[in-house]
Amino acid sequence: MTDLSVAPSPAPAAPALTGDELAELDRRHLLHPWTPMGDPEQLLIVSGEGCDVTDSYGRTYLDGRSGQFNATLGYGHPRVLAALQEQAGKLMTYALLGSSNEPAVLLAAKLAELLGEPLSRTLFCNSGSEASEAAVRIVRMYHTLQGQPERTTVISLADGYHGTTSGTTAMSASPIAWAGCGPRPGGFVQIATPRCAQCASGAAHDPCAVPGPEALEEAVLAQGAENVAAFFVEPVLGVGGLLPLPAGYLRGVRDICDRYGVLLVVDEVTTGLGRTGAWFAHQREGITPDIVTTAKGLTSGYAPLAAVTMTTAIADVFATDPMLGGLRHGHTTSGHAMGAAAALAVLRVIEEDGLIEHAAAVGERLCGQLTARLKGLDGVRDVRGVGLLAGIEFDSFPRASQVVAACRRAGVVVRSEGPVLFVSPPLIVTEEQVDRIVDALYAGVVATSAA
Ligand code: PMP
Repeated sequence: MTDLSVAPSPAPAAPALTGDELAELDRRHLLHPWTPMGDPEQLLIVSGEGCDVTDSYGRTYLDGRSGQFNATLGYGHPRVLAALQEQAGKLMTYALLGSSNEPAVLLAAKLAELLGEPLSRTLFCNSGSEASEAAVRIVRMYHTLQGQPERTTVISLADGYHGTTSGTTAMSASPIAWAGCGPRPGGFVQIATPRCAQCASGAAHDPCAVPGPEALEEAVLAQGAENVAAFFVEPVLGVGGLLPLPAGYLRGVRDICDRYGVLLVVDEVTTGLGRTGAWFAHQREGITPDIVTTAKGLTSGYAPLAAVTMTTAIADVFATDPMLGGLRHGHTTSGHAMGAAAALAVLRVIEEDGLIEHAAAVGERLCGQLTARLKGLDGVRDVRGVGLLAGIEFDSFPRASQVVAACRRAGVVVRSEGPVLFVSPPLIVTEEQVDRIVDALYAGVVATSAA
């Protein structure tokens, strides 16, 4: 077996096909998720090392988006590759249905340690969407087993994003999630996102009106508390506009959930495992959720894996299920050994290399510099973020895309959704690389300014 523990990853072999040939096959045969078709600007990445990625034409870029928020350790990390190689030589996987495998057990125990009591028990899935979907079924089944089968309504934020399955798209108020996909599953209610609608529209106003946790209480009372199963929330709304929840919001909704017997599910798919400069973003608020979902950074994207971690009290109730005596949910590849081995290696690297503290420090530099240099520039409506998760809101969709394209030409990859441009480099990003990202963004904003 090749020892990859110290050697840098070998230079990638040249692709067998040319960039143009690959682009043509992509255009003809690949259907990209959530992507306008036929975008000529689309990068086709063939290799990566550290924070750099190289495209099919041999051009190298600094990855300011960590793939899709997930490549927290960057690319070709020697210790993760070594762990994957070791696990592959031992056991690719063994299903968790009626049996178990070693890396899955160790990873579940590690998540319990990182999340802390009483969050002790994990169900593994393969994607963030599956984790959200599982959590919806878990909260409903839990209440049924507790003698409250009418507690089925799931409340979430109007601009929240929890996944792309039928159930999880019904948690979003945005028609882009569910229009034209047939009847929306019932039992989902949205409340106002804690953001000032006037700021979002760019209208001049004074003062800001930000809906607080009381919107949850109103919705619970309107539905009848006895009908409400859970409130799902992201600590930083990702797809919904890179919007950190206001300080105190999570504590407020925790209190309301406790008051009405509603479970609090915190979706840490994007924010978990270091992205915000803490292991988990909810820990910054000192609250304990009933259920936490994680995915993306869990394996740093080295394998598809997601987790639904719940309290002992919730998990234990499934032993009383009259049909199974266990949880009626899961997948063939739940807790796949390669994914779990990748996650264990990723978490070890984060701990051993002090990457939480590093992310907090370079994240402060990133958000601080973006605010100092971009806020107030022509067309920039807002700059916000926490840790290595920042958003720049422009006054128009096209402007955000133009800045993304300008950064690309300067050798920096970032991404936008609507008018918001996301910046989320790997946790291993250096100060010098942060400065390069900020410089590229500043130059991109200035170059695309109409003023
Ligand atoms: N929850 C959140 C907060 C997300 O940002 C995403 C993905 N963008 C998901 C869930 C769904 O994860 P996946 O794409 O892995 O299905």
